[in-house]
Amino acid sequence: MPNGTILVVDDADNNRSLLHSLLSHQGYTVLQAGDGLAALAILEKEAPDLVLLDVQMPHMDGFETCQRIKANPRTRSVPVIFISASDEVKDKIYAFTVGAIDYVTKPLHAKEVVARVNTHVSLYQQQRELDALRATQINQLKALDEAKSRFVRSISHDLKNPLGLILSATDVLRETQLSDTQAQLVGIIEHKAHFMLSIISNLLDLARLTAGVPPNHMPTSLRTLIQESLVGFDLQAESKQLAFSVSLPEEDALVEVERHAICRMIGNLVSNAIKYTSKGGIDVRVEVAPEAFSIAVSDSGLGIPPEALPYIFDKFYRIPLAEYRKEDGTGLGLAIVKAIVEQHQGTIDVETAVGVGSTFRVTLPRQPKRGRNHHKGSNSST
Ligand code: ADP
Repeated sequence: MPNGTILVVDDADNNRSLLHSLLSHQGYTVLQAGDGLAALAILEKEAPDLVLLDVQMPHMDGFETCQRIKANPRTRSVPVIFISASDEVKDKIYAFTVGAIDYVTKPLHAKEVVARVNTHVSLYQQQRELDALRATQINQLKALDEAKSRFVRSISHDLKNPLGLILSATDVLRETQLSDTQAQLVGIIEHKAHFMLSIISNLLDLARLTAGVPPNHMPTSLRTLIQESLVGFDLQAESKQLAFSVSLPEEDALVEVERHAICRMIGNLVSNAIKYTSKGGIDVRVEVAPEAFSIAVSDSGLGIPPEALPYIFDKFYRIPLAEYRKEDGTGLGLAIVKAIVEQHQGTIDVETAVGVGSTFRVTLPRQPKRGRNHHKGSNSST
């Protein structure tokens, strides 16, 4: 037996009574309104599963009533079936234009009305169940995501202290007389502990960057920012016999950015360029336009295979090939770059060819838009 609530709207008492007895007999709860305004008042308080709406009524006709039902976000999804004496195609078309789901002509045939009502009520109820399920799933996923971030944060904090102690202990060990093998083992412990610390601090930074905390933009000289970001990389490149060139715009420009985040972003891109390049060199090119500026980091290294490209900004992703894996890495560097670019409402794109090299180009607005929804920018990779 179906259940649900139907709102019958008709100015003729006998029609309302007829539909009332027909539908209550089917198991429905029937609400009644004698005109459009009374129907809208009922819809303010009740949530019926369907509205049966007469077209011709005084004050406000069925079409206008339907338009108002559909204009209200709270009642928009309730299905409306028109009941009309008119069999004219143009009226039927108009009924669907204003949002009706079905149209029944008078004189009413009981079985037809019941069949149509049953179908639409059942569809509506199923849709609502699906919507509720989807909303629950979305909430569960959100809760899971928050729990995951909390877990990562707390475990990261908990691991930081013991790792600090391990490194202090190795410092003390280094001051004692160690055999070559012992010194080598202490070296491995130190190296791995530093590696674990870098994963932890990257994870904590990523959690902070993606937590939606608005960035602290400050007007900054672009030239100083780039020079600060690149300190030490020329020597790193030199140690691998790589050329290192930087081209800056002739005139300095003011940009509004979170300084240490941009230094971090440039640092990650340049250190990747050096890491994944064994011959040739690295070039950093900065360009300024009235509204935006861009930083392109090019290398003549391994390049990125097309099948890996969609994943390189994912957390912990590292290209699963020996020549890339022989370099140390956490797979968090580019995820951090992407989070910083989004935080600055910018875009990042990649041009790359295996065996030729890669260019990562970040474009950021010189002055970010303020406002609630503006610390998420778009992101693209090509
Ligand atoms: P990692 O710490 O492993 O370098 P990233 O998140 O910085 O992690 O980069 C993800 C992966 O993308 C790297 O492991 C590497 O496989 C690839 N990659 C990043 N930058 C380059 C580059 N300039 N050239 C070639 N491959 C790169």
